[in-house]
Amino acid sequence: MNSSNNLGSTGNFIHSYINEDLKGELNKLHTRFPPEPNGYLHIGHAKSICLNFGLAKYYGGKCNLRFDDTNPSKEDEEFVNSIKNDIKWLGFDWEDRLFFASSYFDKMYEYAVELIKKGLAFVCDMSAQQIKQSRGSLTEPGTESPFRNRSIEENLDLFERMKNGEFADGEKTLRAKIDMSSPNINMRDPVIYRIAHMTHHASGDKWCIYPMYDFAHPIEDAIEGITHSICTMEFEDHRPLYDWVINSIDFEIKPRQIEFAKLNLSNTIMGKRFLRNLVETNQVDGWDDPRLITISGIRRRGYTPESIRNFCDMIGVSKANSVVDTAQLEYCIREDLKPKVPVVMAVINPIKVIITNYPDSQTEMLEIENSPENESLGKREVPFSREIYIEKEDFMENPIKKYFRLFPGNEVRLKGAYFITCTDVIKDDNGEIKEIHCTYDPATKSGLNFTARKVKGTIHWVDAKSALPAEFNLYESLVLPDEKSETGYRLNPDSKSTANGFVEPYLKNTEPMDRFQFMRNGYFVADSKYCKKDHLVFNRIVSLKSSFKPISAE
Ligand code: ATP
Ligand code: MG
Repeated sequence: MNSSNNLGSTGNFIHSYINEDLKGELNKLHTRFPPEPNGYLHIGHAKSICLNFGLAKYYGGKCNLRFDDTNPSKEDEEFVNSIKNDIKWLGFDWEDRLFFASSYFDKMYEYAVELIKKGLAFVCDMSAQQIKQSRGSLTEPGTESPFRNRSIEENLDLFERMKNGEFADGEKTLRAKIDMSSPNINMRDPVIYRIAHMTHHASGDKWCIYPMYDFAHPIEDAIEGITHSICTMEFEDHRPLYDWVINSIDFEIKPRQIEFAKLNLSNTIMGKRFLRNLVETNQVDGWDDPRLITISGIRRRGYTPESIRNFCDMIGVSKANSVVDTAQLEYCIREDLKPKVPVVMAVINPIKVIITNYPDSQTEMLEIENSPENESLGKREVPFSREIYIEKEDFMENPIKKYFRLFPGNEVRLKGAYFITCTDVIKDDNGEIKEIHCTYDPATKSGLNFTARKVKGTIHWVDAKSALPAEFNLYESLVLPDEKSETGYRLNPDSKSTANGFVEPYLKNTEPMDRFQFMRNGYFVADSKYCKKDHLVFNRIVSLKSSFKPISAE
């Protein structure tokens, strides 16, 4: 696996840019992560967080957390808190550099006035529709606004009156005066301020004009002394406008915008709109539903911050759009948990086995190692007695070919215990199997190095008398590809299933978020919301089998 430095993948094109810049006048790197507080963060944001905070760490620079809350309609305190929480959980720290773009509204207004005074912005009376129509196309230039040549005085007066609330929403805009025939449509006199009589979560009703993203963002970066403004590819065509704003206002530090390709994950939908809709229509159990790829969802699913940082290192950074196989994310959590968590036995879909020749009142304690990967996790005592549970699927009355588990007449090994042979199948009135009768051979006890016979199957089990009941949530992909659907996908009705089974008594002190490997069943985490001492609930993080192989093992 990639040598994980968690510092933002080294050796990508962004490193080359920065190395070059640091050879020149610049001596310190300063990045920022600028989420819009209109939803919970998802795994794509984790990529951006790892990149921005990781680069700062790597170059001994700084990374700011800046809430991009210039849009008055959507922000929410809950989102701000969840975002802070998620970034900290991922292991990053903005120290004392927490900013809100809305706190720069005064400055932004002043800069807009400065542009007007320089003859670089004008108040336009065209409607949104008219502006759109006059923009031209990729092959045709746009047409200039009839209001483009207003005098500076008139523009200053109108802009101030816009601010004072004298006009209705949409009646006027402030536009940058750049070039209506620019080959880049973003440069065709873009709107930089709009009127919106809306209450802002931070500034209240102070403002009824709000800056557009393309105007606000470079200013926010420049005010904070950001040196490298890293964003996703859809802003590549906006870079000339970003530079235009920076150069027109004549900032001392000129941040450099660098774009990289967004993370896409196979069989997942990331956009906030999609996630928000699922949450608001109660199709999932909140923003932290373990099936969601929100950071809070994968946290509740049992992913560790290390596994996500390793994943972000592993996928790297580039300008080419691609879809990363979700199996790669699963690989990272397996690799992380393998040496860390105890391997214990849980029976998810139980069926009872009675060992008819085992003494009725006896319980013996068997010593079983906690991890084949990590000796330091020690050993534990596992009770064994006459009645046990095994997985339903570890028994077949009429075995298929190459079935080496339990079936009538066959002998298997019980992990850490004895060989048992199935002698009888007991059914209820409906013909359903009620219990399985077996005999055990005392000579085969684990640790005695029994070699007289070999068995092909080893199955896990729990002692019926002492086992603790537990609920297991098993997950499949939340969405499935669907060519017939307009969106290209549909919700998977079987994305969650719940089973009731048992775990070893060793797990009696389980706390929410404790993680285990349940032998043969996968990695599990105690659910943070619903796991209680008297009601154990486990989420399957990931099964044990992997379809993903890392390309190079370093
Ligand atoms: P979404 O609608 O999916 O939440 P967004 O871009 O609207 O995405 P923002 O809050 O504006 O979300 O994003 C904050 C930062 O995270 C931005 O710099 C953005 O480029 C980055 N980002 C968002 N989605 C991804 C992704 N899938 N991969 C990498 N970076 C991303
Ligand atoms: Mg956004």
